Amino acid sequence: MNIFIKSSPYIIAGPCGVEDEQQLMSVASALQSLPVDMVRGGVWKPRSKPGYFEGRGEPALQWMQQAKEMIHKPFCTEVASKEQVELALKYKIDAVWIGARTTVNPFLVQEIADAVKGTGIAVLIKNPINPDIELWSGAVERIQQAGIESIAAIHRGFSSYDTHSIYRNKPNWAIPIELKRRYKALPVFCDVSHICGNRTLLATVAQRALDLDFDGLMIETHPNPDEALSDAKQQITPAALSELLKSLVIRQVTCDDVQNDIEQIRQILDTMDAEVVDLLGKRMELVKQLGDIKIAHNIAIFQQDRWREIVDSRTQWGENNNLDAAFILKLFELIHDKSIKTQFELLNALKQDKN
Ligand code: PEP
Ligand code: MN
Repeated sequence: MNIFIKSSPYIIAGPCGVEDEQQLMSVASALQSLPVDMVRGGVWKPRSKPGYFEGRGEPALQWMQQAKEMIHKPFCTEVASKEQVELALKYKIDAVWIGARTTVNPFLVQEIADAVKGTGIAVLIKNPINPDIELWSGAVERIQQAGIESIAAIHRGFSSYDTHSIYRNKPNWAIPIELKRRYKALPVFCDVSHICGNRTLLATVAQRALDLDFDGLMIETHPNPDEALSDAKQQITPAALSELLKSLVIRQVTCDDVQNDIEQIRQILDTMDAEVVDLLGKRMELVKQLGDIKIAHNIAIFQQDRWREIVDSRTQWGENNNLDAAFILKLFELIHDKSIKTQFELLNALKQDKN
């Protein structure tokens, strides 16, 4: 049985890093009475630069084991090596998470997969820091192949060079949604703290995640967030966590009363989408005919004036149908780009034939 599968969102809360015994006991006892399913705490902290708090290591695992006995909730921590998995097991930690800086490295993920094999420990897999779904799903598959039953993925956003973003790590929601589509039975949680990087955005992003059908949330919680030794700006007190959790609207995926209406509309949407795809296919056939003509008469494949005309007319048609220009532009960039590429392929094929 996968412990992370639950009918309501699975909540993981706790400090970014376990700093001392008192800090952990304080946060753990405050979380005891909250609807929190698992307590987190980093014991080894991967810091970008040297000279910062890197976690307390093994003694922190001992405090975690004591806290677990005190509040009777499961605990999880981050691991990045076989030795760290072995220590987590020694102190009866219930779940380990593979951090974003580790998911990028298939050697380390495999080392962790080999270390957890046959142990029954639960494993959470964060997305890699770069927006590469194959690395993320590869890590999921390595852990699945190790026979681990309790697996969940954690979406913590992606690094970017964009310093103007409101997020610390950009959500790129399409990537975790694609992961969910690939692995139907895999719970996917959202680590709102590392996406936001500051506490003001947390509630909005948490609600967004639930509205996008995420199965749970990870939220960093600290008894005294401003004094935290890591990620101070994004952590919240257990009291603030309680308020945040209360504020969330849990949307039902389906509801019998409206199910029929939803089905009917979806059927119409399916028919419309089939027509759209059909038309795109026919459009592409014409694009190829046009390509042959251009090639036969030595006419340039891409013509700036034609592209300008497409943008102007299509965005105008969009406006007539209440579709905003940015959306139409994006759509036709995709269509036109594919058309031009297809015509270039025809040209290249011809060149190869001649060679
Ligand atoms: C963390 O959870 O504290 C952490 C370091 O996460 P990530 O790997 O997502 O950066
Ligand atoms: Mn953190």
